[in-house]
Amino acid sequence: MIYTGPPQNSIRKKIDSQNVIEAHALLKMNNIISENCIVHAPYIINLASPREEVYKLAVDFLKLEISRVKELGLKYLVLHPGSCLTLPRDEGTKKIIDGLNKVFENDNSNVVVLIETMSGKGSELGISLAEIKSIVEGVEKKNKIGICLDTCHLWDSGQDISDPDLFLKEFKKYLDIDLIKAIHLNDSKNVFGARKDRHDNIGYGNIGFEILSKWVHCQEFWNIPIILETPYFWFENKWKPPYKEEISMLKNNSFKDFKK
Ligand code: FE
Ligand code: FE
Ligand code: ZN
Repeated sequence: MIYTGPPQNSIRKKIDSQNVIEAHALLKMNNIISENCIVHAPYIINLASPREEVYKLAVDFLKLEISRVKELGLKYLVLHPGSCLTLPRDEGTKKIIDGLNKVFENDNSNVVVLIETMSGKGSELGISLAEIKSIVEGVEKKNKIGICLDTCHLWDSGQDISDPDLFLKEFKKYLDIDLIKAIHLNDSKNVFGARKDRHDNIGYGNIGFEILSKWVHCQEFWNIPIILETPYFWFENKWKPPYKEEISMLKNNSFKDFKK
């Protein structure tokens, strides 16, 4: 997963086509198909905002971001649906739907926006399968929309994820599982249903290794990119990325304390 610029602001550098060629060569060298290289939209996009200027910026910025994903030769763009702040939740949801339809209206790219399941922190929307369903079903161009499941967010929002097959059974009551195009695999620093959103390293949080490993080995997810968004850890006087260790533990389906 990549960002096309800093996730916290709207400063964007023009995309250099030479870099794109090099990046695709790198993907190929590492046996990663370009479709599995996911882009995450910046956090400042809030389609549910009651403030007109924030909403307008969100629509414009999302259009721009889609054109950048297209330029990069990539397909999927993960988006946080938004926070409704002072608005009632259903009105916030309506704004998200209208915003997405506006964005997709004149979009001729094959970029697909993936709505991420959220934790329920503050006034976030998209924190239950019912809310995700209303957003997805409101989008007119069905080929433009998909879903990204985030295990930490699902857990924090109070969705039972202890068995991925049972979760999918529940999911099917709301939406088609083919809509799931990416997974963010994270442990959680918080207890079930805490609505907090703080990621932890795989096997170090409250979800635990066993459940997260089940998600990785679930057959339904074999063709879906599974992305770690786990924090760096302090090791031998510096911050270290955990990904190599976490991936190897998950592949071997056995936990190993890599922090000591
Ligand atoms: Fe996210
Ligand atoms: Fe995520
Ligand atoms: Zn998160």
